[in-house]
Amino acid sequence: MCNILILGGTTEASALASALAKRGVRATLSYAGRVANPKPQPVPTRIGGFGGVQGLDRYLRAHAVTHLIDATHPFAARMSANAIAAGRAAGVPTIALTRPAWAPVAGDNWRLVADIEAAVAALTGPAQRVMLALGRMHVAAFAAQSQHQYLLRFVDAPTTAPMLPHHTLVIDRGPFGVEDDVRLLQHHAIQTIVCKNAGGIGAQAKLVAARRLGLPVILIDRPALPPRDEVHGVDAVFRWLNHDADRGV
Ligand code: NAP
Repeated sequence: MCNILILGGTTEASALASALAKRGVRATLSYAGRVANPKPQPVPTRIGGFGGVQGLDRYLRAHAVTHLIDATHPFAARMSANAIAAGRAAGVPTIALTRPAWAPVAGDNWRLVADIEAAVAALTGPAQRVMLALGRMHVAAFAAQSQHQYLLRFVDAPTTAPMLPHHTLVIDRGPFGVEDDVRLLQHHAIQTIVCKNAGGIGAQAKLVAARRLGLPVILIDRPALPPRDEVHGVDAVFRWLNHDADRGV
């Protein structure tokens, strides 16, 4: 019988948890604990780090996990690397449920950069109004370009104020709509957007809104990961699970 551990924190992880619950498949969804009130789930949840590769290896063995599904965000590189290593160490079949990266279409004005540091460097120049659509973890790095007026959008109100001298903070949780994002960008007279190439639908609205308004986007590329098996949808996860069952795993 399956006993699945989903590494979550994404729309895809929640969709998978719902699909597994609907089919009566035993599963636990794991959160890092970054968000104060995570979305209620139809499967049991656990919260907090495992303690590196060794901790996750121990968890997989102690809870007799049969399948590990890494449905973390494409920028959660440490957790994803740990999942590959711990799955291998514990002999637990492991797969990543992820989303294809966004690709530009006609009308997009994207500048592709390798990482956060490169995004910060790309903002060198006169003061402008910049939306940082990055979550709260990387905001401090932009203090190096303190001339800009920043618009920040966080899921939770921060306990300490962001370290940017000129900023406006909006507390809101996605998925966001295109019309809402067009209004937000216009209301704050945004001139440039900085975001990660997360892929998927939930966070795409800001890019469509930027295209509509003719705004430039500084798009941060995904971090590199060790080779791994990946699928792009819940159905593909079920095919993988069934394939494993056929092999008697
Ligand atoms: P990270 O840098 O790859 O992970 C740092 C550490 O956090 C991991 O080593 C692990 O601790 C713990 N961790 C991460 N995801 C976990 C999970 N699902 N369950 C239990 N522990 C987890 O990850 P991150 O970029 O900080 O992202 C943290 C969470 O936020 C992830 O669940 C991710 O899906 C979600 N998220 C991230 C982003 C982003 O842009 N990075 C955006 C949206 C959502 P131990 O080593 O102690 O096990």
